Amino acid sequence: MRQSQLFTRTRRDAPSDEAAKNAQLLIRAGFVKKEMAGVYSYLPLGLRVLKNIERVVREEMDAIGGHELRMATLHPSEPWKKTGAWDAVDVLFKIMSRTEKEYALGQSEEEIVTPIAAEYVQSYKDLPVALYQIGQKYRDELRAKSGIMRGREFGMKDMYSFHATQEDFDRFYQIVKDAYLRIYSRCGLSAKATEASGGSFSEKISYEFMVLTDAGEDDIVYCEACDWCANVEVTKLAAGAACPKCGGALKSAKAVEAGNVFDLGQKYPKAFDFTYKDQDGKDQYPIVGCYGLGTTRLMGTIVEVMADEKGIAWPEEVAPFSAHLVSLGKPGDDASAFADALYADFEAAGVSVLYDDRDARAGEKFADSDLIGIPWRVVAGRDAAQGMVELVSRATGSVEKLSREELIARFT
Ligand code: ATP
Ligand code: MG
Repeated sequence: MRQSQLFTRTRRDAPSDEAAKNAQLLIRAGFVKKEMAGVYSYLPLGLRVLKNIERVVREEMDAIGGHELRMATLHPSEPWKKTGAWDAVDVLFKIMSRTEKEYALGQSEEEIVTPIAAEYVQSYKDLPVALYQIGQKYRDELRAKSGIMRGREFGMKDMYSFHATQEDFDRFYQIVKDAYLRIYSRCGLSAKATEASGGSFSEKISYEFMVLTDAGEDDIVYCEACDWCANVEVTKLAAGAACPKCGGALKSAKAVEAGNVFDLGQKYPKAFDFTYKDQDGKDQYPIVGCYGLGTTRLMGTIVEVMADEKGIAWPEEVAPFSAHLVSLGKPGDDASAFADALYADFEAAGVSVLYDDRDARAGEKFADSDLIGIPWRVVAGRDAAQGMVELVSRATGSVEKLSREELIARFT
């Protein structure tokens, strides 16, 4: 796409009420617009990134046998009242219609997915099954100061699995855990899975996926020698203590919860009287697992972890474009004709490219390019007469000189 045609422009300043680095940069670069605290619109560049994150998540969930669906987000109040969550869940947005009927906005979808599963799961032969969706969630969060990492409206992938036995849930949890870790690593992040928490002192057993960043709202202790990790809220161990798994010294850090898995047991099937026939023809309640992963929080986390003083640095899988072609030519000159030809090459090869064809100063173009954060910058200008371009890595700043053919070969 030609940058002269891009709907958005970069801006020098972020709104003064925006404290979080992720939102400041995303607003300045034209990826999102803040509507109010905790609510953002995703502009064309931001939507490209979000769709890429969703694609990665979808590929990994499909690969482990998840069935994608799209559940309603405007919910009847009855199922929420049935499980007690209508009164118990503090973040639930409740709506009153003009005919005084009550509704809830989806903050998680156990109340909707359980009756759906109950309709089709009748026998042990129908188990296990995992249903997932990617879409909007609504939560009446008290504090929304972390930019897109804590929204009142936000994107989430939520999956729900149904099992005949606890062992089968445990088996599936390991599969999902590996898929989650693949998602984070494809997004350029390294995540740690916490040990199971809850259980004996809460009704739920949960596992959390943590990405280390000072922008996170959670405190964790972790072991650098092995993969042991726990949330400070649940563990009695502190930094300096011996790792319970390998004996190494534990360290503490700030982290963001990038995903969460709950072992919900039989709570929801019992609330909705959802049973299946086991091998002996007896009615049994299935065991339910719930797996959340915040897609917009993931986008914010990527910005927090990878940005530098010049702007955002997207990893290749989620970047809005694969390359940023920057022409240093003036309309009508040779350098500009060369850049046009490179743009045509990229288009013909099916490589997504943002082409800065604007009549602007080189310094301004480079500053914009650093802010927007496309992983590879192709500079067409200085060596255009020799048919050479510069390929610059946004993450490392490394520069290579390549011919036109070598350049296209790099991206295909
Ligand atoms: P937190 O402790 O951060 O509030 P949570 O335990 O409430 O998270 P879950 O209910 O398990 O989160 O939601 C699943 C995932 O959705 C979380 O791991 C996180 O990635 C994301 N998430 C939760 N709340 C928000 C929010 N307000 N804004 C953006 N993403 C969120
Ligand atoms: Mg929460």
